Amino acid sequence: MKTLLLKDNEQDILKAAEILKNGGLVGMPTETVYGLGANALNPQAVANIFKAKGRPMDNPLIVHISCFEDIEKFSLASKIPEKAKLLAKNFWPGPLTVILKKGSLVPDEVSAGLDTVAIRYPSHKTANKLIKTAELPIAAPSANLSGSPSPTTAQHVLNDLNGKIDAVIDGGVCDVGLESTVITLAQEKPKLLRPGGITLEMLESVIGEVLVDSAVLNKLEDNQKPASPGMKYKHYAPKANVIILKASDVNFINFINSNKSINVAAICYDEDVKILNVKTYSLGKKNDLEKHAHNLFEILREIDSDKTIKTVYSRCPETKGMGMAVYNRLIRAAGFEVKDLEKL
Ligand code: AMP
Ligand code: MG
Repeated sequence: MKTLLLKDNEQDILKAAEILKNGGLVGMPTETVYGLGANALNPQAVANIFKAKGRPMDNPLIVHISCFEDIEKFSLASKIPEKAKLLAKNFWPGPLTVILKKGSLVPDEVSAGLDTVAIRYPSHKTANKLIKTAELPIAAPSANLSGSPSPTTAQHVLNDLNGKIDAVIDGGVCDVGLESTVITLAQEKPKLLRPGGITLEMLESVIGEVLVDSAVLNKLEDNQKPASPGMKYKHYAPKANVIILKASDVNFINFINSNKSINVAAICYDEDVKILNVKTYSLGKKNDLEKHAHNLFEILREIDSDKTIKTVYSRCPETKGMGMAVYNRLIRAAGFEVKDLEKL
């Protein structure tokens, strides 16, 4: 199959919408990462997403809509709790996915057999226009091969999926750079399943207490069943060995400089770049957590493309605000390996 590289204009969006209506697969830019979209109401089209990505069939997809009313229009949820309306009012369109009890029209392929469904209303104008033009709910996971970092440019999508999907729309670099926040409202107490651009603090300011699933910040034990199936899969791990260093500024620098080698690199902050004498990948200024989120996946892809790098030492993000989302992705890239230098 030849993958069309489409532009972010009316004519090409129309073309992409036609592909979706005909059961095809389209890579689309969103404010979080690029998604691989298909008609959420067409089980065969949805099954093709899993095939193209090599995604395990038990990992459900997020259904993307272009207005709140789409939930009822397409019978996506059996019940819309008050808290869902509050979250939608405050954070939609935007990088927030809400899990609700599933409605009658959602195929099992989308929800991977669960009785719940994940729904998001993205703010990216191209995604919005595409969904509106197709007049369909669009099931879309991230548009990468399963196991590699989520794509934040159209080129990343092509690197992974060229020849396996019908088209990708080039909408430039994604704003947030990490996947959406996922919260479940399908149980008694709201629970954060994946941190993202809408932080825990923001959610709690609108709906009160939100529990945090233990798998957000900790490794799942072998016998533990994850609240969100995606949590059990290894994610975003570069081939090099990534080790997070829990350390003061000075100990971080000293540790790396005393382990200097051409095979060592560092994921660090702008402030560290001049002082470290190994190859550096900066997340941004130390206090700019949004920038860290924006840059992380690009950095992981760059590290993978430099075959000389065998070990990467990384700064340890704080788990507050956007830091929680960065920590959540980084700790997976590190296979949960954290070295506490303050305890040595
Ligand atoms: P991706 O689109 O690649 O970011 O993957 C979607 C994420 O949403 C995965 O981590 C899924 O496990 C999660 N997800 C989707 N639907 C559900 C659901 N019904 N219940 C819990 N988690 C879900
Ligand atoms: Mg993904």
